[in-house]
Amino acid sequence: MNERYARHSRISGWDQARLSASSVCIAGMGALGNEVSRLLVMAGVGRLIISDPDTVEESNLSRTLLFKPCDIGRMKVAAAADSLRLLFPSVEIDVRPEPLINGIGLAELRDADLVLGCLDSRSARLQLSSRCFLVGARLIDGGTHPWGGEVRLFLDPDGACYGCGFSPEERTQDDVPWSCMVPAMQSVEGAAAPSSALVGAWMASMAIRFLMDLSTPNNLLVADIPRGLTTVTTATRDPDCPYHHPAGTPRLLGTSAMDSVAALKAELGPATRIFAWDAIQYRAECPRDDFRASKWQRPSPSECPKCGSALRIRTTLDLSAAPDEAILRELGIAPRELLFATQGDQEEWVELR
Ligand SMILES: [Zn+2]
Ligand SMILES: [Zn+2]
Repeated sequence: MNERYARHSRISGWDQARLSASSVCIAGMGALGNEVSRLLVMAGVGRLIISDPDTVEESNLSRTLLFKPCDIGRMKVAAAADSLRLLFPSVEIDVRPEPLINGIGLAELRDADLVLGCLDSRSARLQLSSRCFLVGARLIDGGTHPWGGEVRLFLDPDGACYGCGFSPEERTQDDVPWSCMVPAMQSVEGAAAPSSALVGAWMASMAIRFLMDLSTPNNLLVADIPRGLTTVTTATRDPDCPYHHPAGTPRLLGTSAMDSVAALKAELGPATRIFAWDAIQYRAECPRDDFRASKWQRPSPSECPKCGSALRIRTTLDLSAAPDEAILRELGIAPRELLFATQGDQEEWVELR
């Protein structure tokens, strides 16, 4: 171990070699993602996969150490990766400038040592939690309030998931298709930079301890800055919650997400139906009926070239209906994704190479 970690190595139980062999997925590279990722990289975590579909805006700069004014307009993941490599050149970073569901495959979540949720909406958190519980991935999720925030630890695959905390009614409110075209323009709640730093430091501390096999709680921590309090609550698993069912053991394919639909069909057989997790656009049509275009891609809002109306987008989850030449990645299929396939009454899980 080199001089860089001299102070860490004096901490009882600290295992630098284990941290450098660890890989962590981080969903979201906003204020929390910035804090968490820089702390993990400074602690010497060896590999990160980071996803975020957004670009850096000027309003981000008050809370994000990794973004500089010259990064405005760049993808957040690219700007963050550059700064993280400056902090520690040996860190390996995979950037995914896409929403989690299109950017990080289920097998990647499963094989990561830990997943960190730095997201800003309930539906995104529910999606991340249910994907983690599908494959038994360990998750630490964080959220900020204007003055404080929460850290939720889902480190026990048999414990409560994020969805367990909601009533059946609240769950149905979140049952919007993940593919909803225009991400709901939720009013963005304010949060002070110190709140992000506080919650990010809690998350990173728990993450580092978990990666080194030191004790961690499996609880909800709430940090309340105005009252100077941190409260701990235990979540209980709801047997009726639909979000924590594991997927079956997948069959590993030779096809990867960089291959075409034809390659996938050739491997699974022409009669197999294969399902994507996120809706795929196959057609866009004008509500005034003067334009229609067939195009297989990730849903993308656009305007009618004839009259300027917003085009109505038709989508499907049936990946096997896509044209042979379409590339899986361009349809929104994440690298190393697990897919559900059926043939007659046979069902199976398959894993992209
Ligand atoms: Zn649950
Ligand atoms: Zn039109």
